[in-house]
Amino acid sequence: MTLLRVENLTASYGASQALFGVDFTLAEGEVLALMGRNGMGKTTTVKAICRMIPSQGGLHFAGQNLHHLPSFRAARFGLGLVPEGRRCFASLTVAENLIAAARPGHWTMARVTELLPRLGERTGQRAASLSGGEQQMLAIGRALMTNPRLLILDEATEGLAPLIRAEIWATIAQLKHDSGMSILVIDKSLRELGQVADSAVILARGKTVWSGAMEDLSADVSEAYIGV
Ligand code: ATP
Repeated sequence: MTLLRVENLTASYGASQALFGVDFTLAEGEVLALMGRNGMGKTTTVKAICRMIPSQGGLHFAGQNLHHLPSFRAARFGLGLVPEGRRCFASLTVAENLIAAARPGHWTMARVTELLPRLGERTGQRAASLSGGEQQMLAIGRALMTNPRLLILDEATEGLAPLIRAEIWATIAQLKHDSGMSILVIDKSLRELGQVADSAVILARGKTVWSGAMEDLSADVSEAYIGV
């Protein structure tokens, strides 16, 4: 079943247009990689989906037209965002950050800290004192606490140390295999994305230029549009 359908999506920042026609669909239980070079519109697409910026075109999630939804309802409607830059509440503890996001469902504090044991060891620690990798895990835990139907990770492992990156990729794989979580993931590591994603969408200059099964993504296409 299609969970998210994005059709000819356009969006602007003031007079400056950033999206010129983004198209893709994401099925329930699918892991989709949103790829493209810097500045091609990946974060803008995520912001439009989460109703953080105005956009035009088709945006349907779980049968609902997202354009009819104010942004505070988008989260309640099942969009769990791990934003670029993490944005945890610095002065709150790990536990407080998690509880602040909680909505009823499968993902409780116990299940989140079981999935992310580093958080379990640091529940009383203030978010500001966590390492970058631990903050990213907190951002993932916080998004899970909202019990989303779709988890969106913008720059899943950007700027993190190799060991933590590996832990985050393992967490994403575990969410996919154990929970059947639907995931939209943005990251620059094609190799790791290739191991976890079912399908891929590539953006160039604010438009979808390629979409398909991850295994069909050829070296020529990734070299042309991603630069690897
Ligand atoms: P990156 O990988 O560097 O995060 P991206 O693919 O996520 O890049 P976006 O951040 O969506 O790209 O940017 C798409 C375009 O919109 C770029 O030209 C960028 O300069 C522009 N843009 C992004 N945010 C703003 C903003 N707040 N105001 C004006 N223009 C913006």
